[in-house]
Amino acid sequence: MKRLLSQVPSINKILLNDKIKSALEKYPEIFVKDIIKKEIDLLRFNILKGYVLEVPSIDLLINNLLDNLEKESKHSLRRVINATGTILHTNLGRSLLSNSVKENLLDVAFNYSNLEFNIDKKSRGSRYDHLTKIIKQLTGAEAVLVVNNNAAAVMLTLNTLANEKEIIVSRGELVEIGGAFRIPEIIKLSGGIPKEVGTTNKTHLADYKKEINENTAALLKVHTSNYKILGFTKEVGNEEIANLAKENNLISINDLGSGQLVDFRKYGLPYEPTVKEVLDSGIDVVTFSGDKLLGGPQAGIIVGKKKYIDEMKKNQLTRALRVDKMTIAALEATLNIYLDEERALEEIPTLHMISISKARLEAKAKIFSEKVSTLNFDVDIIEDKAEVGGGSYPASYLDSVAVKLTHDNKLATELEKSLLLDVDVPVITRIKDNSIILDMRTLRTSEFDTVINNLKIALSVK
Ligand SMILES: *Cc1c(COP(=O)(O)O)cnc(C)c1O
Repeated sequence: MKRLLSQVPSINKILLNDKIKSALEKYPEIFVKDIIKKEIDLLRFNILKGYVLEVPSIDLLINNLLDNLEKESKHSLRRVINATGTILHTNLGRSLLSNSVKENLLDVAFNYSNLEFNIDKKSRGSRYDHLTKIIKQLTGAEAVLVVNNNAAAVMLTLNTLANEKEIIVSRGELVEIGGAFRIPEIIKLSGGIPKEVGTTNKTHLADYKKEINENTAALLKVHTSNYKILGFTKEVGNEEIANLAKENNLISINDLGSGQLVDFRKYGLPYEPTVKEVLDSGIDVVTFSGDKLLGGPQAGIIVGKKKYIDEMKKNQLTRALRVDKMTIAALEATLNIYLDEERALEEIPTLHMISISKARLEAKAKIFSEKVSTLNFDVDIIEDKAEVGGGSYPASYLDSVAVKLTHDNKLATELEKSLLLDVDVPVITRIKDNSIILDMRTLRTSEFDTVINNLKIALSVK
């Protein structure tokens, strides 16, 4: 063992190697030294444990180090390609921003801006004013406030309007979103007292009525974003909730979750009210996400009665939950596209992926199939089911088209692994019956060449 340990090269000796010397021109010295030290320590550890019976050659060691340098120098957060067919993939960053947002985003991020400066009046302004006009226009709201995300929007709304007061919510709407966000917990955390009414499958107006007392502040509706109760069910609609709240001097609130500005029924999805429709039904305050169906950056949008929004603006929490200038820039530019709905459906990736026609998906599949035909796969164009995802339209599927790739002597699971680990831009795919499935709804034409190149790499991996 001692003999083996004495054969392990020193860090200084490795640093004299020509390949490492040229690596030092590319990477910072402290980083290179750290990687070498880790590799040497690991080798020593393995020798002491008896896992290694022979010290690898210096060439092998150097090649390992160069691989590690390349791997470790990649950013932690980086681009991937989504070929899964799930449009709002929460693990893959939800909405993609529209290309037309880029200019505004870069302009604001890399220059000074009038973030909190009123140019007309040459005086201090508010960051929240930049989004007010356009959101009012699109939703018909009296007032607007935008915060970090929808979870923050719900917290701020309840904390401002119902602190130490009772909030009535249907048992059928006690949603848990992605583990950490549970409606009863959020109500408590915001200082409110949750009062659950009705049953899991049925809640009637009378259930809400019975629970109202002098300590009640609000009636809360929550979108059941990621599940669906089927069969013998009853929920109370927005208009009835809004009217009951009004009759009793209470505030009606709807956490819409996704929140949408256009009706997607034309594209094969079930009816969901738009933000404007919910406000028109008389609900006082509506909250929704910026990066779900809206197709913008992460944000929480609060719209509703001016007196309530004004109170929220005075809440100290608002400062803790505030949005940054890049979010405001991206959101304003995204919302501006909505002024022309046709354009929004084409240019906002989330909307485009939902509304794209079957014929266009088939055409995409043909182009991809032709490009991939140079590689040694069996290629089929198949019918597929895509999902909106991200807590929208649970249990609804969009008819889609996919390209199915099968290889004679490569397992789909091996290819899938290579497409994640051996390439610069990982491709997230699905596997079915030893085939790789690439759904054309989320795979973008601009990504075809990268995917083909990655498949080539995956095939060449031993
Ligand atoms: C997604 C969702 C949230 C949380 O929104 P974020 O923007 O992810 O913070 C809250 N409520 C409902 C009903 C949701 O669907």
